[in-house]
Amino acid sequence: MNNGVRTHTALHVVKGAVVKVLGERAKWTASTYVKGNGGVLTVKFDRKPTPEEIAEIERLANEKVNENVPINVYELPREEAEKRFGEDMYDLFPVPEGVKTLKVVVIEGWNVNACSKEHTKRTGEIGRIKIRKIRFRRSKELLEIGFDVL
Ligand SMILES: [Zn+2]
Repeated sequence: MNNGVRTHTALHVVKGAVVKVLGERAKWTASTYVKGNGGVLTVKFDRKPTPEEIAEIERLANEKVNENVPINVYELPREEAEKRFGEDMYDLFPVPEGVKTLKVVVIEGWNVNACSKEHTKRTGEIGRIKIRKIRFRRSKELLEIGFDVL
């Protein structure tokens, strides 16, 4: 399993932890970035998290890795996916109108996301997640969470 796939999959796990700690207001992903074993998750949010919140995000993300739960991918007609998963599966920038079939990545009770990229089969394959640089851009209300998979 190459680093990019592990790092990309970690985005889903980190996102789940971010929403658990910061709440539903942090549920919109604005962008993601992956290079090798480093990733950045950017979500819409209105303040800089405290160091305690960041530590909790890291702790919960690693707990989910340790649980080694399955990462389920469902491929289904868009209309059906929207009925079943609702808007929560979408990121801030919508999937283009023309896309009629969606792959939806589900980590049960943790993260649901329409995503066509490659993922590990279980969270345990990701490896340890280390939160790195946090940057809050107040003018854009964007929170960037940098991390590495070790
Ligand atoms: Zn994905």
